Amino acid sequence: MVEPGRRGRVVALLANYCWVQLDQPGPDDISRLLCTRRTRLGKSGQTICVGDWVQVDGIDWAAGRAAVAAVEPRSLVLDRPPVANLSTVVVVVALAEPALEPLQLTRFLITAERSGARVELVFSKADLLPHAAVEQWLQRAAAWGYQPLAVSTAAGAGLDALRQRLSRPGLAVLCGPSGVGKSSLINALIPDLGLRVAAVSGRLQRGRHTTRHVELFPLATDALLADTPGFNRPVLPQQPAELIACFPELQARLRQTSCQFSDCQHQGEPGCAVGSNWDRQALYSQCLQDLLAQQGRQAGGARVEAAGLKQRGDRLEPRLDPRYRQLSRRGRRQQAAAEFNLPDPED
Ligand code: GDP
Ligand code: ZN
Repeated sequence: MVEPGRRGRVVALLANYCWVQLDQPGPDDISRLLCTRRTRLGKSGQTICVGDWVQVDGIDWAAGRAAVAAVEPRSLVLDRPPVANLSTVVVVVALAEPALEPLQLTRFLITAERSGARVELVFSKADLLPHAAVEQWLQRAAAWGYQPLAVSTAAGAGLDALRQRLSRPGLAVLCGPSGVGKSSLINALIPDLGLRVAAVSGRLQRGRHTTRHVELFPLATDALLADTPGFNRPVLPQQPAELIACFPELQARLRQTSCQFSDCQHQGEPGCAVGSNWDRQALYSQCLQDLLAQQGRQAGGARVEAAGLKQRGDRLEPRLDPRYRQLSRRGRRQQAAAEFNLPDPED
């Protein structure tokens, strides 16, 4: 009998193979298959990313092997780490060591909101602050529209609550500044992190020694966590409207009363429905200024280029017409080859 294809999720990548976690376990409860990629996937230029939903076929249950036949269209994709179809970004910031900076936290929240995934907020190192101070931060962030958790890997506090929060079906990635305890948290959430699934034997062994990629670990049925933290440098959106969409408390106000100006930047102008009596107003304004400055720099760069100039350090220099640019050695060889009707020496 020909085994029909099955659906699963890529949970780890090796050089030319990947591990696929099946939607439904097969005979003998086999739930993971080591899969090759069909060449036609490679030729169509389609890449496989951790988190991808794939169809596998040619299943050999006894050997635990199969081949990826097709990759389903992705919903969300994160660049760093490269993860597809993520459902949750967990922003982690420390309550102390390093001290919590509301502007930095806001920038991370914006970056997380921009991904389109659900955003969870975790305050780490709760053991370093008195209980009342921790409570204050929790309440403050709750007013922003989040349901933050305070955790401490050192004291083992809040980890069950976080695990539970991340046990909903989906794929979660932790993000935040370095030094806040993300790796410690990942290790606490995935105790058997040392037992990597990528352990393969025989001829495939070579695959192990190539670049380490992201690996997804199960926290509960259908709930996965990436084993490496994501972005640790926040990025602002390009447009004010995108920024506005990244503040849940602003969104909540706009749902209640819409602003009388269609292109309002909600900086507390008279007639603005949002007003200025909200906690993160100053942080929002700061981010907006930074965004506009970034826009200005980009527009400036485009103007410089349009004028046929290029920026070199502080100076503007004329951009050289390509015809007058000195040919590279390879270019000269090719030109000579063409002139004398010779084959390209590089071919
Ligand atoms: P990452 O850079 O975000 O991955 O942070 P690490 O997990 O490497 O942790 C950075 C430092 O913070 C290390 O020295 C950890 O021992 C320390 N650390 C991590 N979690 C806690 C915690 O819950 N409480 C305290 N006091 N220190 C912690
Ligand atoms: Zn407004």
